[in-house]
Amino acid sequence: LSSRLGATLDKLKKRGALSESDVNTAMREIRVALLEADVALPVVKEFVARVKEQAIGQDVVKSVTPGQMVVKIVHDALIDTLGTEETGLNLAATPPVPILMVGLQGSGKTTTSAKIARKLKNDQKKKVLLASLDVYRPAAQHQLQVLADQAEVDCLPIVKGQKPVAIAGRALEEARKGGYDVVILDTAGRLHIDQELMDEVAEVSALTEPAETLLVSDAMIGQDAVNTAREFNEKVGVTGIVLTRVDGDARGGAALSMRAVTGRPIKLLGTSEKLDGLEGFHADRIANRILGMGDVVSLVEKAAQTVDQDAAERMAKKMMAGKFDLEDMLVQLQQIQKMGDFKGLLGMMPGLAKMKKQIAEANIDDRMIKHQEAIILSMTRQERRHPELIKASRKRRIAAGCGRPVQEVNKVLKQHQQMATVMKHMKKAGGRKALMSALT
Ligand code: GDP
Ligand code: MG
Repeated sequence: LSSRLGATLDKLKKRGALSESDVNTAMREIRVALLEADVALPVVKEFVARVKEQAIGQDVVKSVTPGQMVVKIVHDALIDTLGTEETGLNLAATPPVPILMVGLQGSGKTTTSAKIARKLKNDQKKKVLLASLDVYRPAAQHQLQVLADQAEVDCLPIVKGQKPVAIAGRALEEARKGGYDVVILDTAGRLHIDQELMDEVAEVSALTEPAETLLVSDAMIGQDAVNTAREFNEKVGVTGIVLTRVDGDARGGAALSMRAVTGRPIKLLGTSEKLDGLEGFHADRIANRILGMGDVVSLVEKAAQTVDQDAAERMAKKMMAGKFDLEDMLVQLQQIQKMGDFKGLLGMMPGLAKMKKQIAEANIDDRMIKHQEAIILSMTRQERRHPELIKASRKRRIAAGCGRPVQEVNKVLKQHQQMATVMKHMKKAGGRKALMSALT
């Protein structure tokens, strides 16, 4: 996608403000990108129209192309729509606090119930009771019991022949008597929305008055997201969304669709089959995934503010090609100094999140960067292009040349090695995949 999009966007001429035709051209590609990411069509239409209006007439930041500018505006609008508010579970009610899990069959309700129970127990020391109201699928109640055992939380004993509403009542009763903080009610799903299911869930909801009604949805749901979300929200009043199988190939368009339709926050993401595969929601991550463009874009954008456009583009190209020698590292060090905020910059570079942490731990400051620069500058050009040539005697000469200890020369070489490995890895893994692994 990025390359196709890039080609179209490059055709846009550079001007002071975004013209209507610039924006229209760019938005045609954005529209396709969103549909490819499985954002539901009505949501795409609304989003594109809204962003178009916002974008036209906006000033193009100096040394950024109109295309990049549109991408940035779209990216920001995506984050805005996905929501950036605090999205923890609301447990502010008299215990036992009921959490109702709803959604289609196979969406991940039972698994997510156990994941949430485990998290509340481990992170917040809550006493949690799990209860399965799924009396339709054989072994569904047993499935929850098994997961509860794995999570080491209690599960309501199974009583044969009881109806879902009766089980819900028993769960609340048991939770009250047992001094539980939270009771999680795992409901049955159907392959498609049907009236019987909705009535039943609505009845359970009326009886238990849950503090949270979480709509669990597979990230792969695609165009059905709109109907499912609307239906559940209208019938039982969803308070939050959990998107599961985010570890799969889905581009995450469902997140945008469901959020847009319900106006409810996405509270959690399911990231594996295992019980520890539950994460908080980060709009920027999902926005990146939906748009299919790496943080390389923001890197180029930010770099473009202080460095000339050409240098930044050359660097991004080289990075994407997996090439990275000591000369590139030198250019980066120099750009970092120009920009000042090098920690922020490193954070934006795919694959360098880890390194950012190391740097924070090593307490690297501007002086250190100056030293690193001096070390690379006292190498010969050939050495910079072929770091493997630098053996012990050369290291001593380089160290003497810049007045830094040999250990520091080694450190620079090692750091370069790490960066080069990341670049190579990025190339091998290819665009989006590499980006996702770098981000997670
Ligand atoms: P339910 O019918 O809504 O209760 O769905 P289940 O909880 O039984 O999940 C259906 C299948 O999806 C099971 O095989 C789960 O292991 C799997 N699953 C659930 N959540 C995730 C997730 O976040 N990632 C992955 N990879 N699999 C998941
Ligand atoms: Mg289930």
